[in-house]
Amino acid sequence: MRNLISSLLLLACSVAFASAQQYDVVLAGGRVMDPETGLDAVRNVGIQDGKIARITADPLTGRRTIPVAGLVVAPGFIDLHQHAQDLASQRVKALDGVTTALELEIGAPDVGQFLRSKEGHSLIHYGTAASHVAARALAFGAPLKNGAILPQSGPVTDQHATDAQIEQMQARLRSELDAGGLAVGMGIAYVPGATRLEVLDIFRLAASRSVPVYTHVRSVGRVEPGSSIEAVNEVIGDAAISGASLHIVHINSSCALDSMECLSMIEGARARGLDVTTEAYPYIAGMTAINSAVFNPGWQEKLGISYDKLVLPATGEHLTKDRFDVLHNSSTSQWVIIFSNTQELIDKIIPTPLVMIASDGAEGHPRNAGTFSRIIAQYVREKNSISLMDALRKMSLMPAQMLERSTPTARAKGRLQEGADADIVVFDPAAMIDHATFAKPMEPSTGVHYLLVAGAVLVDQGRIVPDTFPGRAIVGPGKQLAAAQ
Ligand SMILES: [Zn+2]
Repeated sequence: MRNLISSLLLLACSVAFASAQQYDVVLAGGRVMDPETGLDAVRNVGIQDGKIARITADPLTGRRTIPVAGLVVAPGFIDLHQHAQDLASQRVKALDGVTTALELEIGAPDVGQFLRSKEGHSLIHYGTAASHVAARALAFGAPLKNGAILPQSGPVTDQHATDAQIEQMQARLRSELDAGGLAVGMGIAYVPGATRLEVLDIFRLAASRSVPVYTHVRSVGRVEPGSSIEAVNEVIGDAAISGASLHIVHINSSCALDSMECLSMIEGARARGLDVTTEAYPYIAGMTAINSAVFNPGWQEKLGISYDKLVLPATGEHLTKDRFDVLHNSSTSQWVIIFSNTQELIDKIIPTPLVMIASDGAEGHPRNAGTFSRIIAQYVREKNSISLMDALRKMSLMPAQMLERSTPTARAKGRLQEGADADIVVFDPAAMIDHATFAKPMEPSTGVHYLLVAGAVLVDQGRIVPDTFPGRAIVGPGKQLAAAQ
């Protein structure tokens, strides 16, 4: 009898133990929102080994339980277009709700070196495209130096390449994809000497490696030839001919006054079965390198602006012709802010269903620190032109789905579901707001209470946890194949 009682007790204990699994972290009682399944309900989330292990209305126990009642628990935001990859920028991105920030528009000039430099030193997940402009600079015998991602305007950017040089670029891009490049990044506007055939040949290379092309299209404005419409036509044609997936970056700045027309072109291409996507950032100004080929003669007519609309972020100085000439001809790269858009237009572009949000972030422009909170503050709360769920879709699920063209591991991102990666933002939907301005571009956003990256708590009660580097590399199929062999 005694034995029976003790066996029963033992059994009861083990049953209790099994149902009371202890998770690494439990987010208790938050408003859990998943843009893929539409779940929007109060739930407890159990996190184990970097994954979302359990989502339930039942209580869960964790080694750490974080009460998050009244806060939204959503997939961490994925920024497909982030240039600055340093820690200062990663800090402000984390406080803006971003758990993954990728350099895909242009790409790091050396993928292997980029990935090695970030390993173990990254707050959030990172990755890069293989860079066409860097491969071109190499083929012209003038490799990019000192961390620059864009070449200075000159022969490298303006001359046509020979057939042999195009083959050299393709060989370089192949080895960059083998090193882990997620896509081919094509800043066509920065290398106007690239012929239509060169661009098409690079699309063909991307298609042969089953990776997408991310592009800043050749030209902007309404002046023909060389309009935004022509430039978007070019890359949609290349996608159709080559079969490569295509992502057109910052439709707001690449198409300016014709943005809505460009969006309808993308919609048309998609309706005909082409895989074309796009993104925008919620600001009326852009930013780029003053000595780049974007400012080759003719830029004023194209952009419909003059020198006074160019502003140096460090000092707020508005340029004059003399000052412009000095900076444009300098071998030292410097950012310049370009005021070339209207609030009215941005407000039309952002809610368009096929537009995802990406920041194009770099130090000097408030979009680096404020893009994602600004969507919640301005478009969800103030203007009420996007639902909270649609905002989350544009900032997490849609970029994850785009990233799936590069790597199947992205299927575990952008979702608040059991089995997904525990990249999670916990924020106050009534208070989340951007503070970065053109005068103070690195001012962090507020309203993110917690941010988890691969299950590690990186933002704790609104503050970055020191000495925590949970960010991991996201690499393309070339690297994964190489690793499997
Ligand atoms: Zn760009």
